[in-house]
Amino acid sequence: MSGLEVGRDERAVCTGCPLVCDDILLADVVATPATQTAVDRPSACEQACERGMKWLAEALRHDDACEASVDAQPAGRDTAIATAALRLNDCRRVLVTGCWDATLETVAAAATLAECLGAAWDPAAAQSAIATGPTATQTGRITADFEELRDRADCVLVWSADPAGTHPRFRERFLTPLASGRERRVFELHGSLERLSGQGTVEIELPEGQAAEAAVCLQLLLQEQFGPSRPAVSSSVRSSTELFTAMAEVAAACLEAECIGVVTADSSGESSGVAAAAISQLVAWLAHKKPAFEVPLSSGGSGAGPSGAAAVSTWRFGGAGAVAVADREGRRLAAAEADANRLLSRGEVDGVVVVGRVPDTIAASLAAFDGLKVSVSDQPPPSVAPQIWLNAAPTSLASDGQVLRDDGRLVELKAVRPIATPSAAELLNRILAELRAKETR
Ligand code: SF4
Repeated sequence: MSGLEVGRDERAVCTGCPLVCDDILLADVVATPATQTAVDRPSACEQACERGMKWLAEALRHDDACEASVDAQPAGRDTAIATAALRLNDCRRVLVTGCWDATLETVAAAATLAECLGAAWDPAAAQSAIATGPTATQTGRITADFEELRDRADCVLVWSADPAGTHPRFRERFLTPLASGRERRVFELHGSLERLSGQGTVEIELPEGQAAEAAVCLQLLLQEQFGPSRPAVSSSVRSSTELFTAMAEVAAACLEAECIGVVTADSSGESSGVAAAAISQLVAWLAHKKPAFEVPLSSGGSGAGPSGAAAVSTWRFGGAGAVAVADREGRRLAAAEADANRLLSRGEVDGVVVVGRVPDTIAASLAAFDGLKVSVSDQPPPSVAPQIWLNAAPTSLASDGQVLRDDGRLVELKAVRPIATPSAAELLNRILAELRAKETR
């Protein structure tokens, strides 16, 4: 790396998780050799959480020197691109996956490459592995952005979500005291006490695996107050059922609240999607009674890309992922059937294009995959042949482009230091150009 020059008071965007904090202050970071890591000092990345600091430090230390590798041997970028196109062209069936830390431009380029290859497409969206994924997409949800939650919701239900793990600064940024001085009550509802944070919240431990029943139960309790004259729940059921007892306090808070926000997760551990649908239905019903909305959080953990990838994928192919053949005219969605993990574990593909980072579950399947791997990433993959790695600029700090925050807000990235490495979008487009050139020869 040539060293880095970041001036005092530079604002940067952290793409370390789907919260995409754009208030990071890179103060006083001066030119250093790659081996000296001034950016490791916490004061150099003010506002960032621990994960963000690590993420940004890694991005700032990015090594521009190595362009690519082919079968674990260093290679020039042009050679690697030509080899990737050649080998991908020879594959029987390719999967394009990843995009967890990708800009919208990169996701679009990856989707176009998938179309050109007639590949399977799964940008690792959590819902692509859930059988009800497409149904949930079509049903829709009543959602709001994070600022709406911060400014309006005086009752917040954090339901089977783990913001501290997936979006470390979510609580600090969006569950602060209400400006109006009204009290904000926060409930955490989980199937296990271990997952409760206890940070100024009321913790409700739900019977294991009963999130859907809990949502129905809450709706019944509220219906009694809002709607029919006869009780929706008999008093004997209410007093004898553990679930009704657990939800009574939540129901009372919802009744008192002026605005209710429900924070949910796209991967709450259930494989059917029934609980997620029940919670969304509850929110839709509540929204007819008083201001209420859902704030869905994506799994996070390795970058800002999941929401952008899901959005581009839905726009192009009609679903967040698990597209058996990437073709915007004749797309075939197959949730819980053509998702990356299943295709890899069943040996249905002989080539994979991995764009940026992937969730741990897919990384494990990729480690066991012995076909062609083409990685376009800022990090070299483990050296296993046959594979091609193209060094791409890190999403944070170095690339110009846009990412989509989980609530749909577009965040502009900005380069805070010059970088010689091309963006992942540029590299994917160059592979695409090679493939198209071959078609016309
Ligand atoms: S919360 Fe996420 S985006 Fe914000 S600083 Fe931490 S890792 Fe980065």
